[in-house]
Order: sequence, then structure tokens, then C-alpha cells
Amino acid sequence: MAVDFDFIVIGGGSTGASISYYLSGLKGKILLLEKGGIAGGNTGKSSALIRTHYSNDLIASMAKYSYGVISNFDSVGFSGFHKTGMIFPFSRSEEELARKNAAMLRDLGLEEEEMPPKEIEKYFPGVSLNDFDYVLSEPWSGYADPVAVTNSFIQSAQSRGVSVKTGTNVSSVESNSDIVTVTSGNGNKFTAKKVILATNVWTNKLLSDSGIPGERLLPIGASLHSVIYLKRPTSLKGVKPVLWDPPNLAYYKMEGDSLCAVGSLDPAIDKKMVDIDKPVPEEAGYDYIEDYMSRLVSRIPKMGESTIVSSLNGLYDMTPDGQAIISPLDYLGLEGVYVCAGLSGHGFKLSPAYGLITSEMVSGINPDKASFDWRAFRPHRFAEGKPIRSKFEEIGTMY
Ligand SMILES: Cc1cc2nc3c(=O)[nH]c(=O)nc-3n(C[C@H](O)[C@H](O)[C@H](O)COP(=O)(O)OP(=O)(O)OC[C@H]3O[C@@H](n4cnc5c(N)ncnc54)[C@H](O)[C@@H]3O)c2cc1C
Repeated sequence: MAVDFDFIVIGGGSTGASISYYLSGLKGKILLLEKGGIAGGNTGKSSALIRTHYSNDLIASMAKYSYGVISNFDSVGFSGFHKTGMIFPFSRSEEELARKNAAMLRDLGLEEEEMPPKEIEKYFPGVSLNDFDYVLSEPWSGYADPVAVTNSFIQSAQSRGVSVKTGTNVSSVESNSDIVTVTSGNGNKFTAKKVILATNVWTNKLLSDSGIPGERLLPIGASLHSVIYLKRPTSLKGVKPVLWDPPNLAYYKMEGDSLCAVGSLDPAIDKKMVDIDKPVPEEAGYDYIEDYMSRLVSRIPKMGESTIVSSLNGLYDMTPDGQAIISPLDYLGLEGVYVCAGLSGHGFKLSPAYGLITSEMVSGINPDKASFDWRAFRPHRFAEGKPIRSKFEEIGTMY
């Protein structure tokens, strides 16, 4: 039977955009469907930090590959990448594991550098070095523009023939005799040989609306994350590295010349699930702002003179191990349907790798011969007791 498309990608965030871009390099007719606008979901809220510092070798390799794409993006479009550097401090008790982690990254060809803790004062005069006993630095890391990256992937895919429909909510996906039928909210139907869900926190809603019972849904929940934007005082202006502050469970992204974005590294927040059917407030609560301001000021006292500019709330699509689920969904009776979701709050920097992995998976390449073996991301890994783990559990920089 004839189908309308070879591939339909659902979701126009950084994941769906990257998947469409990588698929557009293959033969076939491709459609991307997005219920809102491009990058209007969690991608648009992202701090968009780009680093390769990870404590699992597979994820670090994917970060290395993705860094290469985003930092050298001219052939795709505009990434807005700023190479500011990034600093990862550790306490004395974590030093040995951090050294091993750095050695693992160097084995992967990443030049993870050691930095004398005092050097942090060069960027942040008056910084408290409490518990900052051993410091790793990635001078090549930084941040990009998540909306620009997503639009560039989309535009480049469109120039290679991909069709894009925004404002199209997919209400169900149904699989029957090698044909997948995608039905939109207004009753339009599109058929394809293969359909990929890049639908972040909304993945289980779509599966549930497609008839998958609750107990068979994917282990993906949604957690609320806030970012506070501040104008730095004059004495802290200038291009500065991103500072990781594990004792305070926070990161400080020095954006442009004079902004600072404060985000959370708190696993308790990652694990606190919210109901996505309830409206998410646009801005952070004031208690949260006060709490994270006091963490920041305890680390960099001069930031007490900064001005609050704005705050935002976004959602992380959390899995139990903080890593994606990339898999065919034939085991749910959805032959020809695939998923790349559950990115757990660190999926922007990995979007090129997700696009590559997913395009290889749906084109039937033997996983042993693929760029990255997607079987590591199978949903069954949790039931099998084989989650993706940090190689250095105690210092865990998994996501
Ligand atoms: C506050 C915050 C800070 C972050 N900071 C970083 C960071 O510093 N570094 C980093 O690497 N990552 C970071 N992340 C994570 C990263 O931004 C995300 O993992 C990534 O952008 C997710 O992209 P996505 O395309 O999977 O999801 P989304 O951008 O949410 O896109 C999914 C899209 O699917 C669409 N959709 C869903 N259901 C349907 C349907 N039924 N029909 C049609 N369309 C549908 C939605 O409208 C949405 O546009 C952060 C995330 C947040 C929220």
C-alpha cells in the first residue's frame, strides 16, 4: 500500500530537528510535525551549556561528537556557540575519582585540564574556594543558542526536501501492516513507513492517547527546573567561564558580557515529578529565587550586588538513570514507531548525537556497525537492572 512519507518525525525541538536533519541526508520523503512552534517546547528554555565533561564513556563520546558539530556549525547554519570555558571543582574526598574521570576523558581524546583552585579567583574575585580542592577545566566548553541550532537543523533539512508542519498536534499514532498512521487533532491523517517520537515530556501522553496502557508506558517523568537570570555587578562584567558549584547543587552560566544564569544541579529536584496536564508557571517561585541567590552569594559574594532580570521554568523529561530512551516501540505493538526521549535535562548538547543515532537506528544499520550502539538506550535496561551508570558513581557527573 502506498504511504505518504517514508519518515514522520513528531516534535520540533532540538531532538526532532536534529533527527530530521540527519534523516534528510538519506533517501526518502520526510515530514516533521510540531504542535506549537519550532523550539517552542523545552529547547527554548534551555541554558544550552555545551560540555564534554561526563562520567560515562559512551555519553562522553556522544558529547565529543556533538561538540564537534555545534562548535563547527557553519555547514548547518548558526549555533551561536560561545567558547567561554567551564570549571568543575571537586572536594578533597572526590579528588581521586575526579582524576580517574579526567583520565577516562583523556583516553577519549578530550584534553580535560587541571586548574589550580586559586585561578578561579582570576575570573571571580572574592570567590569562596570552600570545598573547591581539586579543579578540572574545559577551556573549549561554553554555551550555544538552542533556538538558533534548532531552526538551523530545520532549515537545512527543509533545503534537502523535508516538509515541516507547525501548529499540528498529533493525537494518536497507530501501526498496521507496515504502515503507521498519524492522526492530528483536527482529524487529518498522515501515513508513513516509520514514525519517530521526539516528544520529550509529552511522549507518554501521546502513547497513552494511542492506546498504550499505563503500566506499559515508558519510564519517563517530568520535573520542573527553574533558571534565574541576573545582571552582574560592574566588577564582575566580562566574558567568564561557566562555574559548576556541586556543594551548592547549582551552576552559574556567565552569559555574554553581563548576565548570569543560575540553574540547579539538585537530584532531589530532578526526581520530583510534576503533572504535565497542569499548567506550569512561567516564572520561578520567589522562595526558589531567594534560595538559589543565597547559594550563589555564598560562593561569589559580589553577586549579591546583581539585579534580577527574569526567571523561567522548563521541564526535564527524566528517566531513572538520567539518560535517554532511544528504541523501536514494536514491543508495544507499535511496529515502525521509534522514540528518542527521556533526555533528562542535558539533551541539547547531545542533540547532534541523538539525530545521528536515531537516523542510523531507523535506517536499519546493524547496531554493531553504528556510530553509537543505540541498544544501550533500550527501555528494558531498568527492568534488567542494567541502567547506564557513571563510571565514578560517587562524583556522578552523569547529566
Ligand atoms: C531549564 C532547562 C535548562 C536546560 N539546560 C540544558 C543545558 O545547559 N545543556 C543541555 O544540554 N541541555 C539542557 N537542557 C535540556 C535540553 O534543553 C533538552 O533536553 C532538549 O532541548 C530537549 O529537546 P527535545 O526536542 O527533546 O524537547 P522539546 O524542546 O520539549 O521538544 C519536544 C517538542 O515536541 C512537541 N510535541 C510534543 N507532543 C506532541 C504532539 N503530540 N504532537 C506534536 N508535537 C508534539 C512539543 O510541542 C515540543 O516542541 C535544559 C532544559 C531545561 C528545561
